[in-house]
Amino acid sequence: MATKRTLMRPDILEDGASRPVVNGIQPSVVYASETPDALDAQYEGRVQGYTYAREGHPNAALLARAIARMEGMEEGLTLGSGMAAVTAVLMGLCRAGDHVLGGDQLYGRSLRLMNEDLPRLGIATSLADPTDAAAFAAALRPETRLVLIEVVSNPTLRVADIDGIAALCREKGVTLVVDNTFTTPTAIRPVDHGADIVIHSVTKLLAGHSDVTLGWVAAKDPAQRKAIYDFAVTTGMTPSPFDCWLAERGLMTFGLRFARTQETAERLAAHLAGQAGVIRVLYPTRADHPDRARAQGLLKGQGCNMVSFEIEGGRAAANAFTKGAEALAFAPTLGDVGTTLSHPASSSHRALSPEGRAKLGISEGFFRVSVGLEEPDALLAAFDAGLAAARDAAA
Ligand SMILES: *Cc1c(COP(=O)(O)O)cnc(C)c1O
Repeated sequence: MATKRTLMRPDILEDGASRPVVNGIQPSVVYASETPDALDAQYEGRVQGYTYAREGHPNAALLARAIARMEGMEEGLTLGSGMAAVTAVLMGLCRAGDHVLGGDQLYGRSLRLMNEDLPRLGIATSLADPTDAAAFAAALRPETRLVLIEVVSNPTLRVADIDGIAALCREKGVTLVVDNTFTTPTAIRPVDHGADIVIHSVTKLLAGHSDVTLGWVAAKDPAQRKAIYDFAVTTGMTPSPFDCWLAERGLMTFGLRFARTQETAERLAAHLAGQAGVIRVLYPTRADHPDRARAQGLLKGQGCNMVSFEIEGGRAAANAFTKGAEALAFAPTLGDVGTTLSHPASSSHRALSPEGRAKLGISEGFFRVSVGLEEPDALLAAFDAGLAAARDAAA
């Protein structure tokens, strides 16, 4: 790398005969060019280079490329959060008068964007059950521009009929957007099933350590890619170089983490199903899962790292459970190296009425677990301690 001295800056370290094996962090917000002609060449895409970090920087580009490779997509864009990615797609591609159809169990803030913000801007929205392609077919309108689904729903772990919905979108010329945060490219690559756009909250499983907030999006169509990019740059959805660097580091162990946590999750699901006080256990590979056959096909026999379960005894038992399972973090996130426990009725689904939650099967005794890398026996013991406390409270 050629280095140049300026009046303000010291020399940058020269490359020697050897090279680093780890990428550095490049915090520079601005990039100096040689001449106006050189800048023209860069803006016109004839040479590669950066100008201003909001428009792109090396750490964001490296991370975007790494995730694109995992997803089997040509190019991706790293953004400041998963919600930035969802917003850039919906608001970068839709205009007043359009209609957006979403899955009825999307991530909470995605639902809010659909229910509150888009309608305020003149973009109509509605929701349908993504496990039922016929329900999606019935909900499509002539002005539907875009369909947004997640493959496995939070927190009830229902599996969307992505193939059925993709066929419908193809037939009607509607853009299919898949948020692949829960499932990850290890379980399913949405482009292989007809998705036009794929989204990630990199914050979760891909980065994996609960120390960065980042998002990623990729679109197959170059015109859509440009519209999403321009909206994101204009509205300042810039990711931090340091966060991108941390996520790149996290990504290196993603495969190992996901394999191990899936294995433990399957074991935890089987263990919980045999315990007194547990009403039901949801995990996509279990024989009693309502979408088991579809999960087997789509997720190639994998069940992902999330397990949900319901205990007897309502809120009192739920309080006792989180207290009793003190070795587990009661925290509303997923994909961390440590197991986290979420209670949808008091967090992600608190805005719903008890009847609304009941329709989804979310009671006061319902928990969602994001399984981490703990030694499995120790993890099961922590759950047992929580269940024992819950049974005492329910008695
Ligand atoms: C967390 C999450 C998001 C939002 O991501 P942030 O990085 O928190 O903004 C979007 N979709 C799904 C499925 C998520 O789990």
